[in-house]
Amino acid sequence: MTQFSFTLSATDGAARTGVIHTPRGEIRTPAFMPVGTAATVKAMLPESVRATGADILLGNTYHLMLRPTAERIARLGGLHKFMNWERPILTDSGGFQVMSLASLRKLTEEGVTFSSHIDGSKHHLSPERSMEIQKLLGSDIVMAFDECPALPADEAAVAKSMRLSMRWAERSRDAFGDRPGHALFGIMQGGVTRELREESAQKLKDIGFDGYALGGLAVGEGQEAMFSVLDYAPGFLPADKPRYLMGVGKPDDIVGAVERGIDMMDCVLPSRSGRTGQAWTRRGQINIKNARHMDDPRPLDEACNCPACRNYSRAYLHHVFKAQEMISGMLLTWHNLHYYQDLMAGLRAAIAAGRLSAFVAEFHAERAAGDIDPL
Ligand SMILES: [Zn+2]
Repeated sequence: MTQFSFTLSATDGAARTGVIHTPRGEIRTPAFMPVGTAATVKAMLPESVRATGADILLGNTYHLMLRPTAERIARLGGLHKFMNWERPILTDSGGFQVMSLASLRKLTEEGVTFSSHIDGSKHHLSPERSMEIQKLLGSDIVMAFDECPALPADEAAVAKSMRLSMRWAERSRDAFGDRPGHALFGIMQGGVTRELREESAQKLKDIGFDGYALGGLAVGEGQEAMFSVLDYAPGFLPADKPRYLMGVGKPDDIVGAVERGIDMMDCVLPSRSGRTGQAWTRRGQINIKNARHMDDPRPLDEACNCPACRNYSRAYLHHVFKAQEMISGMLLTWHNLHYYQDLMAGLRAAIAAGRLSAFVAEFHAERAAGDIDPL
């Protein structure tokens, strides 16, 4: 059986390209992971997600443990079979979403109890329970259970939270055990403080993980603050393991993160935007409900090869959005995911060819040339 492993094939400055090998297939890096919150990437069939170029999906422990429950998914053969996606799946630990979605949270050293945002029922998550749930789901890449403090938080609160997350990382490692073919990633915390990031990275390296995530970013600190952390934090992590920046982001966030040595990212943005009439293109963000598209026979993006751009005009996309037809969210989501995966493929090729800076310059020039709608 193929074991979990990571091969770096080229670097360009701090940026890297390579392949993560798993028993369920290869993940080309830098990789963008579409989010399949409730065992579906909203408005997309799994084969359509794959057709955009996605090698891996993200599933949410918090949502799946509440509905339909991890135990039910396990009885039905695991998450891959349940949602008809046979390629790799990464699941988050539930920690972040408990903090952002659940109510009546009670946080202790042991873990967190909370009430479901769906029906108010009471639940518990801890490092051990999170590892159990992610095993029941059958995910290929399991995330350590951590706590992300709500912003704004002072440095003392960030430090206290980070050290709790590091104790939980150790418990996650112990509870995960030895599972050949499956990977466990640790999550670096420490906010925007260099010393805390370094302390967190050292602790995670001492424990030892198959990959390392950067948590506590893209939570409202702004792009400039995020990039300033990414200027140094990836360098605290082992060069021979994947680095995953959680919850990022907009296309320019992704490009900046890849330039700084990030290998994996995830975000709901391309799929969520697709359902609200927003299209991301190489020439900027298009708001399809804007009246200027009403008579426009052109596609969203002439250079895009997705079904929405090959077969439909902006006028049609405007019409079906206005008429609240389901195909509107389907086509715009497909386009957005296709654009994101095209961007990742372009980044990978540029790094492999040693011409990332030229690629990034062109990326910014095309956006500046502009086709951007006011929101
Ligand atoms: Zn398109």
